[in-house]
Amino acid sequence: MKLVQTIIDLRKEVCDARKQGKSIGFVPTMGALHEGHLSLVRMAKAQTDFVVVSIFVNPTQFGPNEDFDRYPRPLDADVNLCTQANADLVFNPSVEEMYPRGFSTMVEVTGVSDGLCGSHRPGHFRGVTTVVMKLFHQVMPDKAFFGQKDAQQCAVLQKMVLDMDMNLQMVICPTVREKDGLAMSSRNRYLSNTERSAAPAIYEALMAFREEAVKHPGQGVTPFKNLLLGKLKEIPGVTMDYVEVVDALTMKPVDILRGSMVVAVALRLGSTRLIDNILVNIPS
Ligand code: AMP
Repeated sequence: MKLVQTIIDLRKEVCDARKQGKSIGFVPTMGALHEGHLSLVRMAKAQTDFVVVSIFVNPTQFGPNEDFDRYPRPLDADVNLCTQANADLVFNPSVEEMYPRGFSTMVEVTGVSDGLCGSHRPGHFRGVTTVVMKLFHQVMPDKAFFGQKDAQQCAVLQKMVLDMDMNLQMVICPTVREKDGLAMSSRNRYLSNTERSAAPAIYEALMAFREEAVKHPGQGVTPFKNLLLGKLKEIPGVTMDYVEVVDALTMKPVDILRGSMVVAVALRLGSTRLIDNILVNIPS
């Protein structure tokens, strides 16, 4: 497996693979890799011939008071994990390589990026769509692999690909969880022991929502949402960002338990922001 740091080297490697008739799979990440990321690499490896993993902590998707500076960057360990997962190429550009002096173009998807994390992290999705658009142009993959863990990010990027006629397929992979149900995240390493022990209650609360919701098709969402909110508020040390039940495609809130929905939560345990979601399907 090779590690490249410039766009020119990346393009050369991808071009060589293409000349050999290989299809290209792409897994964009910010590094600090865990089993969730590696599941995407393995899925990419199963569906395409040449798998590129990008590792880039993207400054434009962090707000001024967020964790850009302290975001973990264990590059050697990440490269080892990519080797073990049979990736073919790791692309680890510098901030200057991605955003040279004078860079002044941003990509923005409206609507689907407005609510949920969009309203709690102003400018976040603009940063995500900008960097992913650039990465897509650099790698030119046939398929790109993303995690359901970031459900709104998936919906926003799907819309960007559709609206901009981009010639690639998005593959959304299931959320990988720790044995106790906590969704794997690079940010879990910030949790204290007490916070880590409390964190599985997030998934338990989401599951409790689903268990009740599927028994009541066609009913109003509010009492079930309140039940979920109540359970989450019981978690010691929690501060809520949001709890929403939204349409799986548009990310707009739904009133009635019907169709394909995402139940999404964002909260803080101490100073660590965690998100999680589940899909709930209730046939109409
Ligand atoms: P990140 O490094 O956090 O930007 O994540 C890179 C990719 O990995 C995104 O597509 C995420 O949705 C995905 N991902 C992160 N955590 C998980 C997880 N626990 N399960 C599945 N995919 C994940």
